[in-house]
Amino acid sequence: MSKIQTLGIIGSGQLGSMLCQAAKKMNIKTVVISDDEAGPAINFCDNFIYSSYKNIENFNKFVNLVDIITYEFENIPLEILKAIDKKKKVLPKPKINQIVQNRRIEKTFINNLDIKTTEWAFIKSHKDIKKNKSLLPGLLKTNTLGYDGHGQYIINSLKDVKQDWCFTAEYILEKKVKLKQEISIIITRFNNGETTIYEPIENIHKNQILKSSKIPANISSEIIQTAKAKAQLIAEKLDFVGTMCVEYFIDLEGRLLVNEIAPRVHNSGHLTINAFNISQFENHIRAVCNLKKETIKKISNAKMNNILGIEIEEYRKKAYKKNEFFFDYLKKEIKEKRKMGHLTILND
Ligand code: AMP
Repeated sequence: MSKIQTLGIIGSGQLGSMLCQAAKKMNIKTVVISDDEAGPAINFCDNFIYSSYKNIENFNKFVNLVDIITYEFENIPLEILKAIDKKKKVLPKPKINQIVQNRRIEKTFINNLDIKTTEWAFIKSHKDIKKNKSLLPGLLKTNTLGYDGHGQYIINSLKDVKQDWCFTAEYILEKKVKLKQEISIIITRFNNGETTIYEPIENIHKNQILKSSKIPANISSEIIQTAKAKAQLIAEKLDFVGTMCVEYFIDLEGRLLVNEIAPRVHNSGHLTINAFNISQFENHIRAVCNLKKETIKKISNAKMNNILGIEIEEYRKKAYKKNEFFFDYLKKEIKEKRKMGHLTILND
């Protein structure tokens, strides 16, 4: 493959912005296509196309401007990804999205690798919940299109299941795990099968949204090894090229369960920008552009705090120390619970 000069990115949120910034550092141009006219990546890319994710004509224009294509979120219509992949390579491969866009298929894939997830059942009606009442208290999650707690409902007992609920979508019901900790593994897999795995990151969620992440995670060396090995197996079996994230729960008995796979750079990996010589974003670009794997080195331990909604206004006014790195995503509209920025603090 000749040297990639222009990378196409589908999606214009903060992940897209950070991919554009990493590409610029490596002298790779970026073209972003997005259905958000004011998507923040518009500030960082070389070329921006505003389009619905279903408009094949606009996607054809996009394809003609780039050498290779990647994406910042997984819920892109599969037909579009497959159609453009015939013209220019899409990495990670579109068939991976078929698995991770759908919780039922994703969990079945993981369980078939002999890797434990939370206990779960596929739900289409009231009857299905009753049949699976052993999973209560649990979380009912839409089978597709969920993120940051959207499309998730807590069900403590059958009394919470109202008769007037109409099941317009497919769901899965997951047993509520008694959480000791949550961790994630960020892994980059290259075309030749080589991988780079960052050390586990410990995450704190509030109202199902990531609040903060830190390294080192306060976990045993056994869990570190197991979490890395499982992520490696998942990446291999997906034939993944690029950076992905495996999110885990550790329950009160110390069992490691996969929560979900994100086939892309991930919020919990933002601290890699400042805490490592090579960030998750740069590694993603290296992998999809078929560049050589470089050894990662930790510069410092770190903590990252997400900045949600109106909180951004305070952060915009603050002065920062040398070890503090404030990222403003430059989103035009402040909305409650919206990820507006983050702060990474290097702490040794
Ligand atoms: P998700 O969007 O499915 O990754 O869920 C977001 C967050 O909600 C997780 O990181 C957990 O903090 C919490 N959560 C989701 N599912 C469960 C579960 N089955 N048991 C306990 N907590 C959960």
